[in-house]
Amino acid sequence: MSGEAAAPVLVLATHNQGKLRELRELLRGQIPGLDVDTQVVDAGAVGAPDVVESGVTFAENSLLKARAVAEATGLVSIADDSGLAVDVLGGAPGIFSARWAGRHGDDAANLELLLNQLSDVPDGFRGAAFVCAAALAVPASAAGEGREVVEYGQLEGTLLREPRGAGGFGYDPVLQPSGLDRSCAELSPEEKNAISHRGQAFRALLPAIVEALAGR
Ligand code: IMP
Repeated sequence: MSGEAAAPVLVLATHNQGKLRELRELLRGQIPGLDVDTQVVDAGAVGAPDVVESGVTFAENSLLKARAVAEATGLVSIADDSGLAVDVLGGAPGIFSARWAGRHGDDAANLELLLNQLSDVPDGFRGAAFVCAAALAVPASAAGEGREVVEYGQLEGTLLREPRGAGGFGYDPVLQPSGLDRSCAELSPEEKNAISHRGQAFRALLPAIVEALAGR
């Protein structure tokens, strides 16, 4: 053993450390010889480009990101795209979830706007879901042709009338998962990961990730 860190083999196309942590925990112990803490990295660690999300579906956007990072780095890459789909809004905010109130990533403004829009909607009609597409892009190499896979996850629930809880991010304080009496922001990170749209999509992608990394 040289003691040197092994080179990265899998890139998650994000700068979000919470998502990276989630993926590492999912992969820990799943692939013989893979050191998840050094070989599964985020986009910044390998100088991967930021990608414009110009797709019109979660799947398109996740594929755009995974493909661009795989092409730029030559490494197996994963990306996710997610958002909130509200029944009475026909699936909106959807891919516009992060910028629903106009400014990208203004969680408080997005949440306030959504609650105001739905203020007259009766309790029985406040269904919504967090949805996620997770994409895997395998670059072509001497070992074989390139490959792309997309999997999905969904966390269904009801929109509350007031934010509840201090955990999580985004719309977590207003989505109460079906069968629970707490909002997503009142769940521990472990509880949320176990049922989340992203957790489901990443878990569904696991067999394809294992196959893609075998022999690399
Ligand atoms: P992204 O896929 O990480 O870019 O997420 C897009 C947007 O969807 C976020 O900015 C949030 O507004 C919303 N969103 C996605 N996943 C969640 C979640 O687990 N909780 C709360 N909001 C979420």
